[in-house]
Amino acid sequence: MDVEVKFNDIIIDEIDNFDCAFLANSLMGLIKLSRIKELRYTNDNGLFDKLVREFNNQLYGVEEGWGRMDKKKIERAVRNILEAIGEDPTREGLQRTPERVAQMYEDIFAGTNQNPEEHLEFFSDDMDYEDLILVKDISFYSMCEHHLVPFFGKVHIAYIPKEGRITGFSRLARLVETVARRLQLQERMNKMIADAIVKILEPLGVLVIVEAEQMCMTMRGIKKTESRTITSAVRGIFKEDSASRAEVMNLIKGSD
Ligand SMILES: [Zn+2]
Repeated sequence: MDVEVKFNDIIIDEIDNFDCAFLANSLMGLIKLSRIKELRYTNDNGLFDKLVREFNNQLYGVEEGWGRMDKKKIERAVRNILEAIGEDPTREGLQRTPERVAQMYEDIFAGTNQNPEEHLEFFSDDMDYEDLILVKDISFYSMCEHHLVPFFGKVHIAYIPKEGRITGFSRLARLVETVARRLQLQERMNKMIADAIVKILEPLGVLVIVEAEQMCMTMRGIKKTESRTITSAVRGIFKEDSASRAEVMNLIKGSD
C-alpha cells in the first residue's frame, strides 16, 4: 500500500527545529504497524525533501553512496595493514579496531558518489536582491586521497545572487559536507563547491575560499608548525572585478 502523506504549513513550521533522522525514525514505527511502503509528499518545502530522503534511507538504505560500503572488506584490509606494519591484530587494544574503522569509514565517506548539487536548492524571496551574501566559517573534515589522513578547516562562501536566487545556510553547509565526506583534495573540493553554486543558483559571481590544515603535511614534519593551506575558486564578476574581490577578502579576514 502506497500512502501519500500530506503536511500542512503549520506542521512545517513546527518541525523546523526537529532532527530529520529522529522524525524518520519515529515514522518507521508507523510504517511497521501499517505496512506503508513508501513515504511521499506533495509539499515542495526543502526540509521535507531531507526528511523523506532520510526516511527512505532508513527503510531501504537507498541513499546513494550510503550503506553500500563493503564493511567486511574494509575490516579485512585494516587487519592486513595492522599486520603489515608489524602489529599484532589480536592484542587487546586492536581486536575491534578493524570493525571500528569500517564503521567510521561509512560515516566519513558518506558523501562518496553523492551529487553535491542535489542538496542545493534555491528559493527566490526578493527578485531584486542582488547584494553580496557571505557565509563564513563553515567547518569541514575531509580525507586526503593521497595519504588517507584528514585535512580539515573552514570554507567561506560569498556570492552575489541573480534575481533573488538565494539559498539557506543549512543548504550551503550540506553542500560542503557532501563534497568533504569522501576522498578529496582541497583544490578539487574548492572547485566542486563553486561549480555547484554556479550551476544551481546561477549567481552573478561566486568566491569560495577553503582554509585547511593538511595532516599529511603537519604529521610528517614537512611543515613543523601548524600551517594552513588556502585555496580559492572565483567565478563570474569576482573574476573581472578586483575591487569587489578585495572587499570580500577583507570581510572574510575581518573576524580573525
Ligand atoms: Zn596528503
